[in-house]
Amino acid sequence: MNIRNNIDTVTENIKRACESSGRSDDSVKLITVSKTKPLSDIYEASQAGITDFGENYVQEILEKYPLMPEGTRIHMIGHLQTNKVKKVIDKVCMIHSVDSVRLAEVISRETQKRGITMDILLEVNIADEPSKYGFAPQELIPSAILMLGFPKLRIKGLMTSAPITDDGEKNRIYFRRMSGLLSELRTAMSKTGIPLAELPSELSMGMTDDYEAAVMEGSTMVRVGTAIFGAREYNK
Ligand SMILES: *Cc1c(COP(=O)(O)O)cnc(C)c1O
Repeated sequence: MNIRNNIDTVTENIKRACESSGRSDDSVKLITVSKTKPLSDIYEASQAGITDFGENYVQEILEKYPLMPEGTRIHMIGHLQTNKVKKVIDKVCMIHSVDSVRLAEVISRETQKRGITMDILLEVNIADEPSKYGFAPQELIPSAILMLGFPKLRIKGLMTSAPITDDGEKNRIYFRRMSGLLSELRTAMSKTGIPLAELPSELSMGMTDDYEAAVMEGSTMVRVGTAIFGAREYNK
């Protein structure tokens, strides 16, 4: 497993997907997903220029956070239970997986206590999969509007995990729907008086099997694990 080569390959593929869809390649951030992987892998990726790491589990974030390479940041991308918010709130730069109004409320309460602001993304269950967390598309906008009343939260955009597939092209339809939802959300929020520059603009979507398709449909953050660090083992 040559992490540096893998990063080069993924970066090259992102660049190509940007070119073929008329986007500039600095409009997509590569977040490498390091869940279950050792710190040595994170250091290797950091030396190859990676600054942003995605993690799913609170316990793992608590273990890795004090030892992360300088200049790197952790993104919380996994389901977050409300009772664990206070453990990670000061250790992550963004929470991608806000999947309920209740969770947003708890995050807001915690940021107010600490006098900080948290960037969040709202997770959407775009293919209506029973196994997945996230807002149903039709609940998204009313839920987001409710959250505007919660202090010290910034809704930066939307996040989704499309269905598992061996052909990323099949997920383009879902990524396209996500882009449409982001436009709808921007329109709804601008009607409440939020200035253009503060409207949500991020789309966190695309994983190992479908990140190129996601980029072609407007993703601004791809979350890639396996293609960089290799397959994960959960039963060690
Ligand atoms: C594990 C995970 C990823 C990375 O998946 P790969 O297929 O290994 O690239 C991305 N997003 C979320 C939410 C994940 O849980």
